[in-house]
Amino acid sequence: MSRTVKGRSREKVDILIVNAEELVTLAGSSQKPRTGKQMRELGIVHNGGLAIKDGKILAVEKTADIIKSFKAENIINANGKTVLPGFVDPHTHLVFAGSREDEFQMRIEGASYLEVLSAGGGILKTVKETRKAGVDKLVDCGLKTLDAMLEHGTTTVEAKSGYGLTTKDELKILEAIKRINQLHCLDVVSTFMGAHAIPPEYKGNAQGYANLITEDMIPKVAEQGLAEFCDVFCERGVFSLEQSRRILFGGKNHGLKSKVHADEMSMMGGAELAADVGAVSAEHLLFSSQEGIKAMAAKDVIAVLLPAAAFSLMMGRYADARLMVDFDVPLALGTDFNPSCWVENMQLVIAFACHFMKLTPAEAITAATINAAHAIGRAAEVGSLEVGKKADIVVLNAPSYKFLGYHFGVNLTDKTIKNGRLVVDKEKESETVFLREPE
Ligand SMILES: [Zn+2]
Repeated sequence: MSRTVKGRSREKVDILIVNAEELVTLAGSSQKPRTGKQMRELGIVHNGGLAIKDGKILAVEKTADIIKSFKAENIINANGKTVLPGFVDPHTHLVFAGSREDEFQMRIEGASYLEVLSAGGGILKTVKETRKAGVDKLVDCGLKTLDAMLEHGTTTVEAKSGYGLTTKDELKILEAIKRINQLHCLDVVSTFMGAHAIPPEYKGNAQGYANLITEDMIPKVAEQGLAEFCDVFCERGVFSLEQSRRILFGGKNHGLKSKVHADEMSMMGGAELAADVGAVSAEHLLFSSQEGIKAMAAKDVIAVLLPAAAFSLMMGRYADARLMVDFDVPLALGTDFNPSCWVENMQLVIAFACHFMKLTPAEAITAATINAAHAIGRAAEVGSLEVGKKADIVVLNAPSYKFLGYHFGVNLTDKTIKNGRLVVDKEKESETVFLREPE
């Protein structure tokens, strides 16, 4: 048995991480998301170490203290590397069939959102294909996406329905999300978003479709326990403020917490609505009013910002993140992974947040970890490196957190640990790729 100098026996654990150049803990914010200047405080331990046992974090200290108290067969040497909480992606449309590469070209050539829609593209194309797809196919696609997310260091993700738009197809998508969560090591939090678009059968009758959502879909989703949140696309030509409010209250009456796609393409009062209904979060917020942003701050509504969505829509406009930080709105970042914004990589989202919204890397990291965990009700379990939390960890091939955003367009993830298991290890993979000429 190995002994320390003092003769005390060291506790055996599953994995030790040692010698981390920077160990970014984000400790101390599990009760409340970080706002304002706190978003720059990352709780860094230099030359940090971490002990993992039974899927949980057992200790976070200086390396010297960790090796005094613990031993393990599996030791990860993070010398020259940065260790962070696994990224939390709080906004994805994970489950759909097909793709929309043709409308990407239309957008480049200047087509508007509505022109794409009238040419048979947009959400309704995906709805058509998703309705035709069976659960197995949807599960398959979703699992592949989660693999890519894990490779980029994401360990918890939210997933919305919303490409079915009939009771049967919305339930099918939520069933797929449930199975994906059971099959994949990554954790998936489910959101019902039947109010994602007006289906063709209800063209010109948004009210009729809103009634179907509140009277038929929500009760069934809740009864089958298929979602935690209810989301609505509050936008001109989609759901009005009043319809959105009724759908969100309909969800609340059945125990579903509220999220809002708010002020993405026009100033609708979506931020105010989110504050009004006591939503957990409001998302996008490109056109929100100052009053709306202040109202969100007053009610602790989290702003989930999605710069990759604005980027892919080529809008030339981003949410006013600096104003939100000034007003003490808690910020989170997500990919908005969907067929018109096909991105699994939270590191790229952080880069966009820094370049286009002028967040500092520290603020963006806070938004992509602990604050994102708050946005999906998981802050007690994930989003920071603290004793008792899930051992969801990413090791970056970079000596400082400041490389996130700065070194972009590549995958900096060296290792991903999910629930205490090493599930991605680039060091091992890279043995097969060696492009230097033989001597
Ligand atoms: Zn979305």
